[in-house]
Amino acid sequence: MEQIINTQRDFFNTNTTKSIDFRKEQLKKLKELLKKYEDDLNQAIYSDFKKSIFDNYTSELSILYHDIDEALKNVKKWSKVKRVKTNLLNMPGRSYVVPEPLGVSLVIGAWNYPFHLSIAPAIAAIAAGNTVILKPSELPSNTSKAMAKLVNENFDPKFFKVIEGGVQETKELLDQKFDKIFFTGSIPVGRIVYQAAAKHLTPVTLELGGKSPTFLTEKCDLKISVKRMVWAKFLNAGQTCVAPDYIFVHKNIKDKFLKQIKVEIENSHFSVDNDNYVQIINERNMNRLVDLLDEKKIYSGGSYDIKERYFEPTIMTDVTFDDKIMQDEIFGPILPVIEYENIDDAIAKVKSRSKPLACYIFTSESKIKEKILKEVSFGGGAVNDAVMHLTNSNMGFGGVGDSGMGNYHGENGFRAFTHYKSILDKPTWIEPNIKYYPRTLGKLKLIKMMMGQK
Ligand code: NAD
Repeated sequence: MEQIINTQRDFFNTNTTKSIDFRKEQLKKLKELLKKYEDDLNQAIYSDFKKSIFDNYTSELSILYHDIDEALKNVKKWSKVKRVKTNLLNMPGRSYVVPEPLGVSLVIGAWNYPFHLSIAPAIAAIAAGNTVILKPSELPSNTSKAMAKLVNENFDPKFFKVIEGGVQETKELLDQKFDKIFFTGSIPVGRIVYQAAAKHLTPVTLELGGKSPTFLTEKCDLKISVKRMVWAKFLNAGQTCVAPDYIFVHKNIKDKFLKQIKVEIENSHFSVDNDNYVQIINERNMNRLVDLLDEKKIYSGGSYDIKERYFEPTIMTDVTFDDKIMQDEIFGPILPVIEYENIDDAIAKVKSRSKPLACYIFTSESKIKEKILKEVSFGGGAVNDAVMHLTNSNMGFGGVGDSGMGNYHGENGFRAFTHYKSILDKPTWIEPNIKYYPRTLGKLKLIKMMMGQK
């Protein structure tokens, strides 16, 4: 590993990756390869957890194609030196900010959207002029292999290299010095990554998880809200970092909501045999989810098949914050419903816990919407929708507090892998002597005036 990193650092120091043409060439090549290998990628992910071609395109590959196209179109603009105003004290002079790549970057991916969460940060790193070492999650092993094949057989390892492996390999990588670490995964592993990065003072982006709340207020379009909510929750069998984790429903509409969600789930035909649904990633996660079920509180669903790794979409009702299901991120197809009467109480509950990655508000009551948006801190979210906010690359995607730091997609991704170097550029034909000795009260007065102070 050390050797690969050193080779990448040597290559970075040749300044080759700083050329915009080089970056564009590599991005174009990556897009061509993704297209060329699309069937293999589809097959790999299907064999790992029965993710369909439809889902693999809509939630993974399309995002990568979009990110590459956007970077190709804008990388020149994003990389431009930006002139800024010069303050009076430094006149005459010019000031500008020079975007420069950080250097050798490490991207560590999560398993739930394995192509998207590994390759999208790599696209941002390449666009920004870095070299990349990518460590995909080991859990979808065929997908990890497919990525390694695509990259390692086609890119020069001194520029872009996939290193496969699990905890041990990731730990070894984290012992090395990188110029940037971009991590997607759980909060506990996020802490490990942050600690390892601290040893080398390496800047990090941490894309983590948490329990994302959803509010359904008394006045809302129930039918469309439930339709969007069901899609967002059971997409990828609930194994989505921004899935609605639990729902606060106003007590006056709770019964109607429960009936409606049951109908909507039935109409969606979630089965691994019809491509509408995926398997739970492994048996460990199956058992973890089974352990969260409370028979007395199951409103609908609740069946599962450990061997098939199938878990039926399940609604739990009359849930309280003391229940096991409310302790950690669910990351599966179980939706706890919590009744509320007073929005302030519901907001206070959310605020008493870690800041979530996402939050959703289904409502036609603008005052409540504004109140939640103002009072609750969270990574990002949507009003009258869920999950879809992350498809808009004009907004950064990332968490806050325990749900992460930094964000990416579009120009934000470029910024995550870039240092903005501030330069003051002075001519030599004049040198006012007010900062030099002797120091006088008159000079001090002038300095204060130039700084806009009395
Ligand atoms: P994870 O933290 O278990 O694994 C993520 C990566 O870290 C993998 O590549 C894994 O090999 C590595 N890893 C695991 N244990 C490690 C250790 N002890 N030391 C060093 N490296 C280790 O996460 P996961 O199960 O792949 O993904 C699920 C979590 O990721 C959920 O919490 C979810 O919310 C979060 N997530 C966040 C986002 C986001 O964009 N914010 C996206 C997807 C998933």
